[in-house]
Amino acid sequence: MARYSPSIAKLVAELGKLPGIGNKSAQRLAFHLLAQPLERVESLANAILEARRSTRLCSVCCNLTDKDPCEICAGSGRERTQICVVENPRDVAAMERIHEYKGLYHVLHGVISPLQNIGPDQIKLRELLARLRTEDLVSEVILATNPTVEGEATALYIARLLKPANIKTTRIAHGIPMGGDLEYADEVTLARAMEGRREI
Ligand SMILES: [Zn+2]
Repeated sequence: MARYSPSIAKLVAELGKLPGIGNKSAQRLAFHLLAQPLERVESLANAILEARRSTRLCSVCCNLTDKDPCEICAGSGRERTQICVVENPRDVAAMERIHEYKGLYHVLHGVISPLQNIGPDQIKLRELLARLRTEDLVSEVILATNPTVEGEATALYIARLLKPANIKTTRIAHGIPMGGDLEYADEVTLARAMEGRREI
């Protein structure tokens, strides 16, 4: 990297920290940006800063939001008897795209993964339990973690925790292939997975 000026080397290094961006892609992106008019680059930099500064976690569902509570939690048209538990904010966006689910969400921000040292305390599980204690309208918790080994184990773990609370706990059906990702499922598959959910 010695052949780059310090500022270019720094830009390449920062871009290389992004997920899915290797050193080659980082260099390509850096030189693409450097070839753009200054206003374009400023507009991109500002968009990143603005989004980061205004985004926080909804204090109710832990989804990313710039308003607290988020639009879904505050929405008057939502079915307050159902909470759909997902792994990350991108899954909420995927579910919202199918326009069939009208309930609420809870975003875990991860799954339990002993191999990666992620235990129940490292995800937003305590927040879900606290929420279920205070929101007495909830009659169904839909576990929509991804159909991966960790996603299944996390769903089972939550189902066991909720058993004594007498809340119906369902798991989405396996229209989504094992190892698959909710956020990449097409709308029909996702809608079928929701329809076919079963009590666990
Ligand atoms: Zn919310």
